[in-house]
Amino acid sequence: MSMLHNISTDPTIVHPGIPLKPAGRYVHFMLLRETESFPLFQTDGSLNVIRVRGGLAAANREPLTRLILFKRKQSSPERLSGRELLRSVDVISDEKKSENYCEYNSANFCKQCPDCILYGYAIGSDGAEKSKVYVDTAYSVSPYELSHKAFSFNALFEHGTMTDQATGKTRSSFGEQDHVVPQVFFPSIVTLRDPTYNGFLYVLGNLLRTERYGAQETRTGRVYNHLVGVVFSNGELFSNLRFTQAIYDRLRERMSGGEDLVERDAILSAATQSYEDLIIDEPITREQVFIGAQAAALQREVTALYSDREQTHQFIQSLATEMRNYVSRARPGK
Ligand SMILES: [Zn+2]
Repeated sequence: MSMLHNISTDPTIVHPGIPLKPAGRYVHFMLLRETESFPLFQTDGSLNVIRVRGGLAAANREPLTRLILFKRKQSSPERLSGRELLRSVDVISDEKKSENYCEYNSANFCKQCPDCILYGYAIGSDGAEKSKVYVDTAYSVSPYELSHKAFSFNALFEHGTMTDQATGKTRSSFGEQDHVVPQVFFPSIVTLRDPTYNGFLYVLGNLLRTERYGAQETRTGRVYNHLVGVVFSNGELFSNLRFTQAIYDRLRERMSGGEDLVERDAILSAATQSYEDLIIDEPITREQVFIGAQAAALQREVTALYSDREQTHQFIQSLATEMRNYVSRARPGK
């Protein structure tokens, strides 16, 4: 556990406890979210799209239509993965009588568990905690035309055929629904402000452990989060849109050359190079950077930790203690 050990003991990048005021430390998780089935990233029945410039380079500035993945469509399933884990070790509970009772998206947020404190809540006049996890809308690298497919769906009669036994009439298909296709990439940077070591582990774990996104009623929304890099810095990074456009600049020729499915390794290495291209212009100090092979090694350590029940249990418990500690400093007397 050498990389994790170094992070946990480096006081220049992680805080011993969550500070009460923003203290200028950030950890950025750079992801490429890859669809692995046919998710629905939609509002009111149609896929969310937007028209933006293709790339950053002058040669690629013609506009194109991209799929978009809104902030909440990314963060909600990740919060829920985390809450599942918290529930499994009794840090939160669904039992109204329990002292750890916490109900998601309701007036019964507990205001003290890792989910409430790190991801935030707002309960009308009853108080609010600002989210320390920043997520922004993500854009598909490839244009909408190459990234979706319309499927017609058939409404079957109760006995499972297209023919109504009473009338003998056969139905044709009844409608069409656009789906995102597999192997569309959405570059996305998730940021945790003022991380403690345990908070860093928790948020990263949620990113690596969440596998379904999009409309809740479907079971088709498989997404794999590739970890491109982890950057500890004293300021915010470039936006998801710039990141996407920089990647597009590097892949444009392949995509317009008729290669509609860009090879995974090509896009991963374009993402790493785009980070190097963009970071030069960012007026921030980078304290620690794990990119490419180093990010992969870090991911293996985090995966190993989460695969060990005892270690997971331990870090979640100390995370929960850290949160209670923060609450008693932030809201003394409560
Ligand atoms: Zn809570």
